[in-house]
Amino acid sequence: MTERRIEIFDTTLRDGEQTPGLSFTLDQKIEIAKRLEDLNVQVIEAGFPVSSPDEQKAVKEITRSVSTPVCGLARIKEGDIDSALDTGAEIIHIFASTSDIQISKSMRTTKKDIVKKSVQSVKAVKEDGKECLFSPMDASRTDLDFLVEISKAVEEAGADMINIPDTVGVSRPQDMEKMISAVGEYVEIPLSVHCHNDYGLAVANSLAAVEAGVTQIQVTVNGIGERAGNASLEETVMNLDRMENVYTDIDKTKLFQISKFLERLSGIQLPPTKPVVGRNAFSHESGIHAAGVIQDKNTFEPGLMNPETVGHRRRFIVGKHAGRQGLQKVLTEAGLDPSDEEIKDILEKVKNISNNGKQLSEADLYAIAETELGKPGEDQLVDMDQVFVMTGNNATPTATVTAAVRGKVKTESGNGVGPVDAAFQAMQRIIGEEKKIDISEFRMDAITGGSDAVANVFVTLEDEHGTAAEARGTGDDIVIASVEALLNAVNLLARKAKTSNVS
Ligand code: MN
Repeated sequence: MTERRIEIFDTTLRDGEQTPGLSFTLDQKIEIAKRLEDLNVQVIEAGFPVSSPDEQKAVKEITRSVSTPVCGLARIKEGDIDSALDTGAEIIHIFASTSDIQISKSMRTTKKDIVKKSVQSVKAVKEDGKECLFSPMDASRTDLDFLVEISKAVEEAGADMINIPDTVGVSRPQDMEKMISAVGEYVEIPLSVHCHNDYGLAVANSLAAVEAGVTQIQVTVNGIGERAGNASLEETVMNLDRMENVYTDIDKTKLFQISKFLERLSGIQLPPTKPVVGRNAFSHESGIHAAGVIQDKNTFEPGLMNPETVGHRRRFIVGKHAGRQGLQKVLTEAGLDPSDEEIKDILEKVKNISNNGKQLSEADLYAIAETELGKPGEDQLVDMDQVFVMTGNNATPTATVTAAVRGKVKTESGNGVGPVDAAFQAMQRIIGEEKKIDISEFRMDAITGGSDAVANVFVTLEDEHGTAAEARGTGDDIVIASVEALLNAVNLLARKAKTSNVS
């Protein structure tokens, strides 16, 4: 059997941006579109041009900025279609409600009128020479005879593709398969699918649609979108990757990167357990799992998908459930060489701390190990001396940091969007000549309630060789705790780099 290519239609910039409370700036939209192009998606849905002049301008600018075909959305209204055509977008996506409930209570019209205007709209797009995608909105709650009727009508009017949306996410895989097969029996043009995650089945339904013959899936990065969101790009692509006889053109090694990028821009944080791209997607803590993975990564990883496949990273977490082999591996990577007896003692300490509910960072673990091995504080690259911060509602936050780098005292200042950013800028200057680093993760939890809460700040740094180091800073001053976390991470990174240079 020949392999079928499944096209990825990304709607992060349209349905994704319809996430309640979310709005991207024009520059952010262009940057997202460029990354989607780089990822090799087949279509970028850039927005709903008639909704505002800014939106129209964004679709226009995105169309100019990428060579990937761009799609603009339009209702079955002349003004919508003119506005979309005016952007220069290569594909116009026409949609109209087809379920009884939406026709009577949202569109307030009749089926006959919907068919007539849909046909007119498709014709208008085709007369302008553009590609036309048509969506019968709420297809999964549409009477099947009517769904077939309108599909045949728009095909005859010249539509290039019909997208079947599960607009409110109520379909199940078996329903989806039936619906797609039924429509596919009556129309010749290719079909696509658009699934929502209200019951957590968006990806499963999209895959069922592929089984039934669709050639394109609409997705968003991180699954953002209306209500519970859309089928997520990363989960959909990785599932297609393991399905027989289908493939995508997506550069899978960039999935983690684009997910992190979108998480940062959107401010919508992913749960650590999110498949494929979550912080813990390839983390191992339990002794049995870690020992197994060290022997052969496929013992407790899916095998067809490893962190390398998606550009993620494997982590061994040393905590309450840890075992000796995982701990040994983590410590060896930082240049420590504990004996079996020492490993046992370190593990006991770690478990005691973890049992008290404390979360340990990588750097905490090394501090414990070094104390146990009798060489505390050895080789610190940077020692902090003083942090001074000024901030206010009408002032640019400024920070001055004094620290010793390899024993040489330096003072540097930095400005930022807030006091933490300003302190980080100053720190970056201090260590700048020593190391080129990137902050790949920054998170802060208040451990206790109240305005005097103690904050736990976790920072993960990465150097130009991809070596990562995670550290924690704790204190009642969030700025100082952040600087401390950064400093601990810098010191750990320096030590790791030294170890890997030697070996
Ligand atoms: Mn939608």
